[in-house]
Amino acid sequence: MNKNSSNIMALAPNTFNKKETVCLFGTGDFGRALGQKMIQSGYPIVYGSRSTQTSSLIPKDAQVMSHAEAAQKASIIIIAIQRQHYNFLTPLAEILHGKILVDVSNNLKINQYPESNAEYLAQLVPGAKVVKAFNTVSAWALQSGTLDASRQVFVCGDDMEAKQRVMDIVRALGLTPLDKGSLLAAQEIENYPLQLFPMWKFPILLSLGLITFFFFYCLTRRVIYPYVYENQDFSFSIAISIPNQICPILALILLSLVYLPGVLAAIIQLYRGTKYRRFPDWLDKWMLCRKQLGLVALAFASLHVLYTLIIPIRYFVRWKISSRIISQALSNKTEPFSNTNAWISDSYVALGILGFFLFILLGITSLPSVSNNVNWREFRFVQSKLGYLTLILCTAHTLVYGGKQFLSPSSYIWYLPSAYMLSLIIPCIVLVIKFLLVFPCLDKPLTQIRQGWERNPEYSE
Ligand code: NAP
Repeated sequence: MNKNSSNIMALAPNTFNKKETVCLFGTGDFGRALGQKMIQSGYPIVYGSRSTQTSSLIPKDAQVMSHAEAAQKASIIIIAIQRQHYNFLTPLAEILHGKILVDVSNNLKINQYPESNAEYLAQLVPGAKVVKAFNTVSAWALQSGTLDASRQVFVCGDDMEAKQRVMDIVRALGLTPLDKGSLLAAQEIENYPLQLFPMWKFPILLSLGLITFFFFYCLTRRVIYPYVYENQDFSFSIAISIPNQICPILALILLSLVYLPGVLAAIIQLYRGTKYRRFPDWLDKWMLCRKQLGLVALAFASLHVLYTLIIPIRYFVRWKISSRIISQALSNKTEPFSNTNAWISDSYVALGILGFFLFILLGITSLPSVSNNVNWREFRFVQSKLGYLTLILCTAHTLVYGGKQFLSPSSYIWYLPSAYMLSLIIPCIVLVIKFLLVFPCLDKPLTQIRQGWERNPEYSE
């Protein structure tokens, strides 16, 4: 063997080592899928099962034997069995003494039992070292190899060495172990697979509420009012005009709601004179779902762009333009060119295009694959500085679109202002507060507070 090859051996000492035998209790879906993956990664596998007969479903190179026999062949035993059947382990307690038991189980409901399944296992077999792992990986993903989305394996346990050995197996399978600490973390880990888009709940419910409100608001102004007072049927607006009004309104409101908790947090910190007191729960939760709020806002902004692009091909728009041209021709009068109108129209479109471009940039940088490749300062620069610039551009786009409309009494139908005016309330509040926070008399103490300074240290919790 030449020098180079011996160096390679030194760099990868385990490559040529035979892997230790691992025992799997249970030949169900998960036991088989995990066993197959482990065999592919070089682990000899023995199954402990109620039936020692092998079937064509069981991985070819694995042995199947009784639980007691299988447990004696390995020091690591993965329990791929539902929690309600764990009782069968009690008579095996002596054989399992000192062994590492890996609990992979999940429940049907969040916090279904008072203690986690892993803690329950540790109570049933007190002499064993219980480690929680693999519960967030599905049998299907293991079999089909589509593990990209779920490469992380959360691991926890009280015995450091046992946890380390399980994490070595996780790595050998091409997955990424994430140490969550002691077995106390098992309950939280068991709840992960049961959560249904937890961070998306608030943004989606809020969007649904706002859609409903603005739909009826626009319906009243654009369809019901003309029908009642002018006997005109504008019900076709429900298809495009009203959605194209609601989408930008939602995009702007939701984008401003991404930045509102930040300025509220700044006000609270300035008021309290410390950063060491917890924010109210609602503010904490709101801050945690800012990314999702931003992405929902981006989705509405994209819809607005699509709806706007098809305006020229709409029948109503083409009819309106041609009838105006014909009436001008018949009366032999042309509308004079208005430089002001040209400026207003071009500026609001330009502001919208730039705002949407930055909005997309924000969306891209929030993708984990991108955000993982920028440092904290770069991420903050994009999300905070560019984020505020996006909010300014989108607010300006809406303001210029409205122009002087808010001064005209005819735009207040049934005393209701145009919907776009309502959409400006929160963004303007956020921008005004942010502007005030930039002044040195507020910015300086805030920066100090964020660096750990306290006005009245005795009041902090
Ligand atoms: P499964 O297909 O129902 O298999 C469970 C196995 O448990 C059975 O095949 C059986 O194996 C054994 N078993 C059943 N009743 C028993 C009893 N009374 N006493 C002893 N052993 C018994 O379930 P699974 O989908 O493989 O899930 C197994 C565990 O993995 C569960 O705790 C589950 O929460 C967890 N998990 C599953 C997935 C998944 O995608 N399926 C993902 C993550 C975690 P024998 O016939 O060989 O005895």
